[in-house]
Parts: sequence; C-alpha cells; structure tokens
Amino acid sequence: MTEGKMKAILKTAPGHGMTEMQEVPIPKVGPNDALVKMEAVSICGTDVHIYEWDDWAANRIKPPLIYGHEFCGFVEEVGSNVHWLKKGDRVSGECHVHCGQCFQCRTGNAHICERMKIFGVDTAGIFAEYASLPAANLLINGDLDAKYYSIQDPLGNAVHTVFATDVPGRFVAVLGLGPIGLMSVAVCKAIGAAKVFGIGRKNKYRINLGKECGADFALSSLDDDVERIILENTEGRGVDASLEMTGNPNAITMGIDIMRPGGTIALLGVFASDWTVNVSEKIIFKYATIKGINGRLMFDTWYRMRGLMESGSLNLDPIITHEMKFDQFDEGMAAMRSGNSGKVVLYME
Ligand SMILES: [Zn+2]
Ligand SMILES: [Zn+2]
Repeated sequence: MTEGKMKAILKTAPGHGMTEMQEVPIPKVGPNDALVKMEAVSICGTDVHIYEWDDWAANRIKPPLIYGHEFCGFVEEVGSNVHWLKKGDRVSGECHVHCGQCFQCRTGNAHICERMKIFGVDTAGIFAEYASLPAANLLINGDLDAKYYSIQDPLGNAVHTVFATDVPGRFVAVLGLGPIGLMSVAVCKAIGAAKVFGIGRKNKYRINLGKECGADFALSSLDDDVERIILENTEGRGVDASLEMTGNPNAITMGIDIMRPGGTIALLGVFASDWTVNVSEKIIFKYATIKGINGRLMFDTWYRMRGLMESGSLNLDPIITHEMKFDQFDEGMAAMRSGNSGKVVLYME
C-alpha cells in the first residue's frame, strides 16, 4: 500500500481564492479504484469557477476539496477488483463518474447518468501528487507528450460537439474561442472542414489563437460584420453547421442567423440566462436542427479523440500556451483568469 503524505491544491473554505497547497495523506484505494501518480495536470474553466467562487461553485462545492479533473498519470496501485490495469500503466480519465445502473447508463448514455458525480467537483480531484479514481473511468494512453493527454477532457467536449454535426467538406462556424472553441477549430480542420469561421468577441489574444489553430477566418463579433463575411465566403448560403461554445444568448442567435436553411447547431456552452427566439422563423421554417451536447460519450468520444491525436493531423500546440511546474499553480491560475491563455499545463516534476 502506498502511504505517506502528498502535496495537493485544496479549496480550503467558501469564498474567492481560498486555495492553498497543503500536505495531506495519500488517499486510500477502494476495491474498484486505482491510485494514479500524476505526471501532468491541466487547469479547466471549471477550476476557475471554483477559485472565483461564482454562484454555481457556491451551490455545488463543499470545501475542503482537492480540485482539478484533467490529468495524465501512471497507475501506482489497483484495488482488489481491478484486473485490467497494472502498476505503470499510463492513464487519463473521464471525470464524469456514472452509476452504471440507471436508464441512461444502461442505454449507452452514461454521460448523462442520473446520479452523475464529477471528481474534482463532488469528490476529491487530481490537483495532487496522487489521486484515487474509479478504475472504470481510466483509459490507457499511448506515448505522446503528457501535455496532450492531460487535456483530453476539454478536447473530448470539442470532439463530441464537432461529430454531432456534419463537418468534413462543410462550412463551419465556431462561436466562442475559449480553449474548447479553439480545440473545436483544430478538430474541424483536422477532419477536413471546407472553411472554418472562428468567432470571438473582444479577446484579441484568443481570436489570434483561433487563426493559429487553423481557422480560415478568425473574427470578432464586436468589430467585424460577421454575417456579411460568412455569406460572402459560403457561396451566399451561410455555414452548414454552427458550434456554440459561449453560453451567451446572443451567440446562439447569431449561430442560427449565419447558418443555411437545413443546417445544424450544436450547443456546448452553458447558459446562465434564458434564450428568447422566434421559433417559427429561426427554427421551424429554417428547418434547423438544434442539438444539446454534454460531456463525452463513454467511451466512444475517447477512442475517436485518441485516434485523431495519433493520426498526426490534429494540431494542439497553439492551444497549450502555458507549461509550468505544479508548484507554480498560482501563476497558472492567474494566467487562466487573465483570459490571455489557452490551456495551462502543470508538470509534477
Ligand atoms: Zn475540464
Ligand atoms: Zn447512471
């Protein structure tokens, strides 16, 4: 058994910040768990919400909590029921912990399990030297650099959203150029979109990253006449698919306005407020398909994502803007909060 103390980043109490690196006991391994020794971890927008303590975090998070859910690491020890993983396996993991028993779990939709828990949100996460995680949620990685494997959780969101529409050979708009929007641009280019329009708002840094990720047009909804530029570059029709990554009601309206009749809009952004729409004009007569996306398909999205990573066609390098040591967590969190970052990856050694 692995015993002793480890370094971990904890949300110590409710409120803004309240984040500390502490020495805590290495967690015990349950019969269905695996103890993972972290190689690299990545900071998510969700972690920023937990740090900043918005309404969502205040209602959901019960400090003290080790947070974080995006990682690549090595199996150190397995529980007594776990026979398909062994010490030394290099793994990442799906943070949505599903029950396996509810209707959705039993019909191939475990990502919307009724009793869903998320590690790093509802239970201890991975901003630590070790984490004990459900073995069923782990997947064995290949031998690419740890930084790529550590960002599979958001990359999986992007892959799930992109493949919910029809992208190869099509015109696609990505609304929102945060890390998952940027990843979506890269995935669309990797699988042969005809043209990708990346649409940000006022963050010039991220609009520029959109270009670096391969967007044919990286636009600002504030400064550019987005609708005109898209019509001019899609034979006057509009895009075939819109991918909504902001959670802003104006963006979903724009996503439909710039889409051709019969197109599909996939929604990944989480909305804090309601959205009002002229249903007849914008959905019915337009023959629009609207799809809500949540999480990653377990585990179809993961296998497809890793296939894309191994194909060599997916360029994730522009998205990983900051690489630092785990001890520099505060600096990494500051970079994420500034908005002038893509993904921030922290290495344990
Ligand atoms: Zn995440
Ligand atoms: Zn379930």
